[in-house]
Amino acid sequence: MSTLRAVQADITTLACDAIVNAANTALRGGGGVDGAIHRAAGPQLLQACRRLGGCPTGQARITPGFELPARYVIHAVGPVWRGGGHGEADLLAGCYAHALVLAAEHDVRSIAFPSISTGVYGYPLEDAARIAVATVRDAVGRYPVACTFCCFSMHDLAVYRRLLDAA
Ligand code: ADP
Repeated sequence: MSTLRAVQADITTLACDAIVNAANTALRGGGGVDGAIHRAAGPQLLQACRRLGGCPTGQARITPGFELPARYVIHAVGPVWRGGGHGEADLLAGCYAHALVLAAEHDVRSIAFPSISTGVYGYPLEDAARIAVATVRDAVGRYPVACTFCCFSMHDLAVYRRLLDAA
């Protein structure tokens, strides 16, 4: 059965089958949630990412989780917000959808997403959360997975909970 929920947590602590990273196209680690995931997974994660040779915006790639409690990390590359007229919404939806395709291919039964693109990439939270919830809802209709929206702040949590409650 598919379930959607939102929690406030550090995503590196979640023992899901897969956690999703808000990665950049180079897949070379960075700040924010990306940095936290690389620190917690250990140096093997960067080595695995190097072998992937990058990832275009709007897509995702999968690696093992190494020292994380999660078995896999799915590296999803969201768009940088440039005002909304540069395909940002489709690219953001695309990286959530692709992450779930990879999850299905690897028999992932539980997955946690951070709020992709809403940190340094500047995507307005409410708009990004609406796309995240709609895209994941649509996908889990076809593929059963327990999905957690992992919010870093209480404010983000309130936004996601409101959207989830408004079925
Ligand atoms: P992006 O570059 O895609 O905007 P960021 O990492 O800057 O990615 O931010 C994405 C979201 O991840 C933000 O809401 C940020 O607060 C959140 N975040 C940062 N660290 C963590 C963490 N350890 N666990 C979960 N979410 C996190």
